[in-house]
Amino acid sequence: MTRRLTYGMVGGGPGAFIGDVHRMAAELDGLARIAAGAFSSDPERSAAKGAEVGLDPARVYGSYAEMAASEAARAPERRLDFVIVATPNHLHFDVARAFLEAGFHVVCDKPLTTTVADAEALCRLVGAGDRVFALTHNYSGYPMIKDARALVREGRLGEIRRIQLEYFQGWLSTALEESGHPQAAWRTDPARAGVAGALGDIGTHAHHLGRYVTGLEVEALCGELTTFVPGRRLEDDASLLVRWSGGVQGTLTVSQVAAGEENGLALRVFGSEGSIAWRHDDAETLWLRTPDGRARARRRGHGWISPAAAGASRVPPGHPEGFIEGFANLYRNVIRTIGALNEGRRPDEADLDFPTVRDGARGVHFLERAVESGRRGAWVDARYEPPGPGEATS
Ligand code: NAD
Repeated sequence: MTRRLTYGMVGGGPGAFIGDVHRMAAELDGLARIAAGAFSSDPERSAAKGAEVGLDPARVYGSYAEMAASEAARAPERRLDFVIVATPNHLHFDVARAFLEAGFHVVCDKPLTTTVADAEALCRLVGAGDRVFALTHNYSGYPMIKDARALVREGRLGEIRRIQLEYFQGWLSTALEESGHPQAAWRTDPARAGVAGALGDIGTHAHHLGRYVTGLEVEALCGELTTFVPGRRLEDDASLLVRWSGGVQGTLTVSQVAAGEENGLALRVFGSEGSIAWRHDDAETLWLRTPDGRARARRRGHGWISPAAAGASRVPPGHPEGFIEGFANLYRNVIRTIGALNEGRRPDEADLDFPTVRDGARGVHFLERAVESGRRGAWVDARYEPPGPGEATS
């Protein structure tokens, strides 16, 4: 890349959670720097965040619409390269659409939108242009998740038979939303979170992880969605039986009322010749087991690891890497892809390894089917192909 890219951010204002993570991740490798933002719908709070991150006040906005219009009017060589959407879910569609239509590449947090119709509209918009659209299913950025994917692709597990996915958190074990906790408040409000609670917030990550590692798609599911905390309007716990393509069986279980759990994401894949197991609380280890009982711990950073995993590590083994670095791996690929397009080059195949708008649409469709299954108490068909030409990278 011949120059450092610039980006703007919508959301991520004072006290927000993921906006700062996006900023750290986007800037970890020195490939991009923030240059504009509409960090809050409150102009004063947006200005405060802009000052905190050292922005020119002229490029800090009180609304994303103002930001899109003003930034699009700049001379091409002084324009932002991409825009990050880090607002609550209900705003993703309008904000992403505004910046795509204004000609910017977009990086959006999950879930893509709150309805399948909106997700499909974004797929069509991206498909009709030359914009990059990345979705931050950041767990696919971990080196040992990339190693897991490589092992599956190499056939080391034989024929895949079962995929076990779980994501357990405990932070919503009480009615935290009633205390005015900002993150809890919108996540439990259907108008801002969408059709699902725990499934939308963390189930979409588990769904993407299963797809990313195995290359399979969900074909049918049967779910039980439960709301444990009295008065809460969305499910805070869900258990799904999942049938994947090729007759593969599995479960996907999420809970945000799993008292004491922090971010307990876990993946296990069982095949005819072996199995793999990965846990977020030991993210630098991937267990590979064979039917004879041998278990091997594959660790990040060693020379013999799969090339995709090796390329996703920055420091030698034993110096812990984690959440920010995994998130940054996704950004590094997106930024290199945008850089290549800016320079009229074809992006490297390896750099196209990031979740796209189509992955996002699959996630939103999965959510709608899971909610429908829970409502009917029955198996539902969950086969789906998003519209528009694919940038299918996962
Ligand atoms: P948050 O409530 O902490 O932050 C949201 C921010 O958006 C706040 O600063 C708020 O002021 C701002 N905002 C609201 N309306 C706005 C508007 N109209 N214009 C500009 N800014 C506006 O929420 P969060 O926990 O950071 O989550 C944000 C998004 O990130 C959600 O979609 C969530 O699902 C996703 N998320 C992803 C991960 C991940 O691991 N990838 C983790 C957490 C959250």
